[in-house]
Amino acid sequence: MSLPDLNFCPDKGRRSATIDHLLLDYALGRKDTAFESKEHIYSFLLGWVDRLWLKRAVQQRFARFVLDEGNRDVGHDLHWHAFSPELALELVVATLALAERGGRLLAFAHSRNDWNATRGNIFVTYELGAGSLEGFEAPAVDACATALGRIREAAAIVERMRAALAEAHPGREAIETSTRSSSEKPEYR
Ligand SMILES: [Zn+2]
Repeated sequence: MSLPDLNFCPDKGRRSATIDHLLLDYALGRKDTAFESKEHIYSFLLGWVDRLWLKRAVQQRFARFVLDEGNRDVGHDLHWHAFSPELALELVVATLALAERGGRLLAFAHSRNDWNATRGNIFVTYELGAGSLEGFEAPAVDACATALGRIREAAAIVERMRAALAEAHPGREAIETSTRSSSEKPEYR
């Protein structure tokens, strides 16, 4: 897997995403017009302030442009993420969990390698296994487990709310189900 290193992107001043955020992007199928996708536009364009068409724009023009882009629903797709080496490993661990597979880490190259550091890419080479995880450092596995635990707690709260709403309004069950069909996989970048 090759992922963009956030320290080598024009928007490197943006805060790094968390594995919680990436998991929810995927699980909730956030598309171009999702609120969270729109919010990314603001930090993305702030990061690109010295680039391209935004160069030398006065404050007001820049702010108006950024807000207009956030309100535009067609013609762009700015829900991107760049990665730290830590987040890249966490993503691979999460991917293996999603596939309900184990795996073995074969190589991990990034900009902070003491030898042969990369510039712009993070490479994670791994092979799928049957059950256990091999070679992945504990922090990556722990971060993933913690994120999944937090999301599970959130899901339990949501389930209590859903049950309470269904009890208070028995006719509402028909619209409770997701608008996503079971065969449709959410897009994720
Ligand atoms: Zn996101």
